[in-house]
Amino acid sequence: MQDRVKLTVIIPCYNEEAALHYFYDEMQNVMQEMSCAEFELLFVNDGSGDGTLLELKKLAEKDQRVKYISFSRNFGKEAAIYAGLSHSDGDLTAIMDADLQDPPKLLPKMYRAIVEEGYDSVATRRVSRRGEPPIRSFFARMFYRLMNRISKADIVDGARDYRLMSRAFVDALLSMGEYNRFSKGLFGWVGFETKWLEFENVERVAGETKWSFWKLFLYSIDGIVAFSTMPLSLAAFVGVMMCLIAAVAIVFVIVRQIVYGGSAFGWPSMVCITIFLGGIQLLCIGILGSYLAKTYLEVKKRPIYICKETNLERKKEPNDSGSGKTDMERN
Ligand code: UDP
Ligand code: MG
Repeated sequence: MQDRVKLTVIIPCYNEEAALHYFYDEMQNVMQEMSCAEFELLFVNDGSGDGTLLELKKLAEKDQRVKYISFSRNFGKEAAIYAGLSHSDGDLTAIMDADLQDPPKLLPKMYRAIVEEGYDSVATRRVSRRGEPPIRSFFARMFYRLMNRISKADIVDGARDYRLMSRAFVDALLSMGEYNRFSKGLFGWVGFETKWLEFENVERVAGETKWSFWKLFLYSIDGIVAFSTMPLSLAAFVGVMMCLIAAVAIVFVIVRQIVYGGSAFGWPSMVCITIFLGGIQLLCIGILGSYLAKTYLEVKKRPIYICKETNLERKKEPNDSGSGKTDMERN
């Protein structure tokens, strides 16, 4: 690495107009403290409907370290992270939320872990979920437990997307050009030496969370489908079990016919069994369908995001190994 390490901070923003100046002020302190690094603040405006872009343009005018990429619509945080990573040319790259829930003051410690201790990435996790609705925390915990049981991706409970990564780590992430991106899984999948830092949950400084319970539920299904084929195996297992039960039932019916004869009863139970089996079949088709749907989206090779506007001079093509992105950038 050169004398002055270039550190790109990627900040996905979706309707963060109210939080941006708090974020920038806080980052200003950190940037002053870390004079050993040459900073670049790369904001990704993920199709905000408020004045986020305007706010970013104002910041960019007064500080040339501020860069932005603005999407043509809301593509989601995962797409924003990918866009940031593919445009980052820093020696080190960080991902940080705009709402100060990822404390920027941890950055110097993260920096030292990579530059002095030799780690490839430094990740963070919340040790408390204070201020979060209990029901949300409960389901989040269940999800992490389930995920670690059924997939090989090492996903840590309370892990944030807040991390600092070396160039090699970022390149590894970019080599995975998949459309259905689940960063929490991808970070673990690429391996490397990762140091974990813990911090207490902080409530967002302004604005409100973009994640409703339903959105989080769908996101967790995405995570499972992206990192585990266990539901498919489970469907097959249920199928085999049903066949075995049916075999036993057939033997039972034949024996009963031979012993007692004339068994034209049992219609209600028959209806229940038919409905039950129909349900199981539909469930299995549903599981199969969700994998097929993801495969369908993957083979379409649509761009992960579309950039409408940016003040970045370098026009780095998003990763070639990716899915043929059309990065329509205008200056
Ligand atoms: N975000 C985004 N696109 C979205 C939703 C969220 O870029 O579609 C950004 C958001 O602006 C914030 C970060 O992702 O910087 C985390 O979002 P939020 O604070 O709403 O999530 P939470 O912290 O509640 O999990
Ligand atoms: Mg937040």
